[in-house]
Amino acid sequence: YYNQDTLLFSNGEFKKSLTTTTDLYGQTLHYGYGAFEGIRAYKTESGTKIFKAKEHYDRLKKSCELINIPFEYDIDELIEKSYELLALNNLTDAYLRPIVYCAPNMSLSKPTGVNIMICAWKWGTYLGDNLLNLCVSTYCRPHPKSIKIEAKVCGHYINSILATNEAKAKGFDEALLLDTEAFVAEGPGANLFFEKNGELFTPQLGNILPGITRATIIELCKELDIKLHQGKYSLEQLNDADAAFYCGTAAEVIGIKSLDKKEFPLEWDNSLGKKLQIAYKNLVLEKELSSQLN
Ligand code: PMP
Repeated sequence: YYNQDTLLFSNGEFKKSLTTTTDLYGQTLHYGYGAFEGIRAYKTESGTKIFKAKEHYDRLKKSCELINIPFEYDIDELIEKSYELLALNNLTDAYLRPIVYCAPNMSLSKPTGVNIMICAWKWGTYLGDNLLNLCVSTYCRPHPKSIKIEAKVCGHYINSILATNEAKAKGFDEALLLDTEAFVAEGPGANLFFEKNGELFTPQLGNILPGITRATIIELCKELDIKLHQGKYSLEQLNDADAAFYCGTAAEVIGIKSLDKKEFPLEWDNSLGKKLQIAYKNLVLEKELSSQLN
């Protein structure tokens, strides 16, 4: 992620990643009480572009506000600093990780102070480029009345880490988590879509992270005249699907081969997911929409 030359952005300044320090008595380190984002930048024909930068920083602000962490940063300035950070590190295609974390305070009360840090590094697609073999996790997504499920909060990711580790230990590529009512929810770090009879389905908001890639796929479905449904779907419905895929900033769009060793019958290359994978790639690279289906 970094070497002796890498710079990060820390509370208004660019500093060396290797030597920048933080306090060990903070609420984020001890309790997971902080919020973060995952953003991608792409090398387009007109230079480096951070895809949906404003949407990501808006979500960071919302995540903080939902958990009572004051967010007093100017979003346009954060976007500007993000571009500067990429340039300073000679990065074009890159992943950016902003995190808002709390100042020293061992109590469970409101933060005594807030910090922001942004780092960036070159990162391939998070789940690789091969179709995924998934297993249904024994962990479910947290109940939305236990936490702010729509916020991207540091501590929530223990659930994602447990599910990922369990799936890998069983020999699968990735997990699929259900919600507390046993409806299909999402992956540890990606949203789910599935296809049945030429139409697409995705779990409705309420028990999942409102993914920015998910929202992008929904927009692309409108442009490409793909019928999309959002609802509560059972595992039986997913098992009966023709094809499925995960999407997220880090993972982009990646097809799912099987769920608990049962393969989806439709060839990935003939699926709506494949069409959307190409359309998504063209969109982030700012290529013409007309080239998306060719
Ligand atoms: N669900 C979870 C749990 C995630 O961590 C992510 C990654 N942020 C997503 C979905 C996808 O969200 P996005 O498209 O905004 O990256």
